[in-house]
Amino acid sequence: MAFDSLTEKLQNVFKNLRSKGRLTEEDVKLALREVKMALLEADVNFKVVKGFVKDVQERAVGQDVMNGLNPGQMVIKIVNEELIRLMGSETTEIQLQPGQATTVIMMAGLQGAGKTTTTAKIAGKLKLKGKKPLLVACDVYRPAAIKQLQVNGEKQGVEVFSMGENHKPVNIAKAAMEHAAKNGNNVVILDTAGRLHIDEEMMEELQEIKEHVEVHQTILVVDAMTGQDAVNVANDFNQKIGIDGVIVTKLDGDTRGGAALSIRAVTGKPILYVGMGEKLSDLEQFYPDRMASRILGMGDVLSLIEKVGEDIDEDKAREMGKKIKKAQFDFEDYLESMNQMKKMGGLSSILSMMPGMNMAQMKGFDSEEGEKKMAQMEAIIYSMTVKERRNPEILNPSRKHRIAKGAGVDISEVNRMIKQFEQSKKMMKQLPNLMGGKGGKKGRF
Ligand code: GDP
Repeated sequence: MAFDSLTEKLQNVFKNLRSKGRLTEEDVKLALREVKMALLEADVNFKVVKGFVKDVQERAVGQDVMNGLNPGQMVIKIVNEELIRLMGSETTEIQLQPGQATTVIMMAGLQGAGKTTTTAKIAGKLKLKGKKPLLVACDVYRPAAIKQLQVNGEKQGVEVFSMGENHKPVNIAKAAMEHAAKNGNNVVILDTAGRLHIDEEMMEELQEIKEHVEVHQTILVVDAMTGQDAVNVANDFNQKIGIDGVIVTKLDGDTRGGAALSIRAVTGKPILYVGMGEKLSDLEQFYPDRMASRILGMGDVLSLIEKVGEDIDEDKAREMGKKIKKAQFDFEDYLESMNQMKKMGGLSSILSMMPGMNMAQMKGFDSEEGEKKMAQMEAIIYSMTVKERRNPEILNPSRKHRIAKGAGVDISEVNRMIKQFEQSKKMMKQLPNLMGGKGGKKGRF
């Protein structure tokens, strides 16, 4: 996966920082020197790295440490925020023309960057939004490009317009516009021809299309595997034909990922999507904040810290802690803890923010199933009387029947939940021992 090596290096830097109680200016400098090396090795553009480190340094030195964060965490917070800023802060969408007006999107890029594949991927996304796209085969040079677009278009259930290989791209584009007008297509996506390298002929061809067809969005497709070259290509295209946004493909591969970090800063143009695989569904919207936390490899630990501060009622949490220690908690407490969890965005949201809980690890976990189970538990508890919630031992079979009926579940579900509850209570009873309480083994935790 892209960024693996960068993530590992940054985590080492931060680990060293976190082990320190206070940070001197020298500590910060040293850490940032390592951050700089890590970014350069990830193939981030040199000028971008320099500016980035300078910005972080300026902010880190002389910054008040926020309540609840140690100085090391504070540096991570700043690096995180600056990474987000570097990638453009906001998520940018492809700009469509208002109402039913037809939007023309021109796809550009070097041969092999993933242009034809991405064209079909985007068509799928637009179709889901209720649009009626027309894909236009203007790549008359790459062998089999037309066929590839036709096959992919068919897979997406989207119409493809083609005139074979013997026409000029600009004429194909013009004819496609007429076809779209007759056919009610409200988005036209031109799959243009790439070359192996930037060359004049290619740029002229694109310019010619732009002169004869009103193109609303020019989207450049670059291959993340080509590293800094991708950034140079983006710069060239932007200067020569003007681009509105970039799609970075092959971020699923073993690339160092620097292109994704540099493109916005170098060209001033946003990344719209990232390609995460060969399948037509493997195109993801680009979220600078999510990408930053992925690069830092700590889930979204900072927002978790922030959320904890915002949402949790500390008095309630403390009281709950006491009850847990004494193994005194009942179904009312169960409800309360579920409510706290919901406030924080639910099970999947909390899990995804945990450090180390990346998507690969979460694959086996069905969060929807987990949320469903939680909702069911809640329904069962709400069907109990307050007396039953506080004194679970009075739950006899007739009470359980009534509760099951009230919650709309089978009685076996009620039994299962009560059993789980008793088991966790038993576990809680052991906790004081494990934590070195009376009779426990000291120092185990
Ligand atoms: P074009 O010459 O720019 O039109 O490139 P293609 O669309 O033919 O893509 C070139 C190769 O890259 C094909 O084998 C695609 O399947 C592959 N490809 C495109 N996008 C991605 C991606 O995001 N991830 C991976 N792993 N492969 C991709």
